Amino acid sequence: MDEKRFAIRTYGCQMNVHDSEKVATLLEDSGLSAAETESDADVLVINTCSIRDKAEHQLYSDLGKLREWKSEKPGRVVGVGGCVAQQVGDKLLSRFNHLDFVFGTHNLRRVPAMLEGALDGRRAAWVGVDTSPERFDLPTRRPELPQGVRRRAFVTVMEGCDMFCSFCSVPSTRGREISRVASEIEAEVAALADQGIREVTLLGQTVNAYGRHDVRRGKAAAAGTMPFAELLMRLDAIPGIERIRYTSPHPLFYDEDLIRAHGELESLCPHVHLPVQSGSDRILEAMRRRYTRERYFGIVEGLRVLRPEIAITSDLIVGFPGETEADFQDTLDLVARAGLIDSFSFKYSPRPGTGAAEMGDEVPPEVAQDRLQRLQAQQRDQTLAYHQSRVGEETLVFVDGQSRRGGNQVSGRDPQHRVINLDLRAGHAIEPGMKLAARLVEATPHSLLGEPLDSSIRPETEVSAGRTPGSGATSQDFTGSRLTSGAADADVAESVDRAAGSAEDVLRVL
Ligand code: SAM
Ligand code: SF4
Repeated sequence: MDEKRFAIRTYGCQMNVHDSEKVATLLEDSGLSAAETESDADVLVINTCSIRDKAEHQLYSDLGKLREWKSEKPGRVVGVGGCVAQQVGDKLLSRFNHLDFVFGTHNLRRVPAMLEGALDGRRAAWVGVDTSPERFDLPTRRPELPQGVRRRAFVTVMEGCDMFCSFCSVPSTRGREISRVASEIEAEVAALADQGIREVTLLGQTVNAYGRHDVRRGKAAAAGTMPFAELLMRLDAIPGIERIRYTSPHPLFYDEDLIRAHGELESLCPHVHLPVQSGSDRILEAMRRRYTRERYFGIVEGLRVLRPEIAITSDLIVGFPGETEADFQDTLDLVARAGLIDSFSFKYSPRPGTGAAEMGDEVPPEVAQDRLQRLQAQQRDQTLAYHQSRVGEETLVFVDGQSRRGGNQVSGRDPQHRVINLDLRAGHAIEPGMKLAARLVEATPHSLLGEPLDSSIRPETEVSAGRTPGSGATSQDFTGSRLTSGAADADVAESVDRAAGSAEDVLRVL
């Protein structure tokens, strides 16, 4: 398959982005190279999302347009993977005769063989369920290493979901919950650290449910898993890893140990994306979310007590069947009371085969649209107010690359996962693994503008060398989270100690 070039179009969540990275590595290992653009590619893979109706229609529209792309050059191949592929399976092949192969969410490893078959004129679909632990055993693409700028990577810790929320198609597209062996996760993170990765985001549909089935059955040791908070402690101890994030935790599994971990593990970033979906207990019950708004507030307050600078973001759905104006007001109230600094909000979209799709009592589309707009307007105001409240603070930015504006402006993320744009000083070039200490000077609704501080540009080796395993601290305290609080370390330590007493009260809510 030498000299063939591939491109991948990815829709949906971080799991899909990470799956696309794995497919890219499999294709590179088979001798293909990444194309600069889709028009240069011989092979195009679409990694699909079926979380909402819109995402599914997008695939059909893309495939329609690809007829022409395929006919422009002989030998071109089109493959489809991801959640729509898992659901629709080989029917996609009958519907689109220019489509060559279809692979489900558990069948990434079959892509090279399917491509080879397609090049010989054989079309195929693989959408079988694979429950073996070997399904985690896939190479991960690190296109940015070793010369690139970014130092962030995704790491899968669990897959699938057993929650069956009444609106959600994930349990049918991603299958049952399965947790990866902890030592394999540790080995992957350590290998990434050796390659220069400084920040990892742990992935799972309900990431903090990691290991829960094994723990509940008393089989965690035999299965090589453990509670999620313990896994975080292990990963925090890996030298070189300065920032740990995880997405998405489920409020039902958000326990005291995880809240405490945010007060104790310095590498654990002061940002939690904690999807709540609704602020109405009545709707949460109909959604089968299995928690109340009070529980959600308890988690948020517990995190704030132990980590005052923490930023909470969330996912919200409006227009769920039976949602009244009063329910929606509860959602607006929750967004304000929990102090969400940002959120993704969606209009409910019925998914075939889910409980909610059979409920009836639909909210008229114009009402759902109006609620979405009101919710997003409130969130915009809250996000801007949060950004404004941070102007004047110092923070630490892990640079991802040039900003959208280009020129000498770079863009990256701070510990709270906010986008920070920075103008480099004259004579400074963008470097791999660049970290910039900065003062935040201007707020916009989507990002913050910062000014690099004196002596903030330092070589990668110097930055990572100061960290001792498990301490989370660099020799110059540049790991970020403590710096962003604007307080000296001693002050922060004191405030955490002071908070410990009141944390007990907050945690009692859980
Ligand atoms: N596992 C995560 C959790 O429990 O919150 C959610 C994962 S889901 C891939 C991402 C988001 O899509 C959800 O948080 C929800 O807000 C949204 N979503 C899922 N199904 C939806 C539907 N049928 N209609 C509208 N939004 C939906
Ligand atoms: Fe979907 Fe609920 Fe599972 Fe999240 S927890 S993936 S919303 S079923």
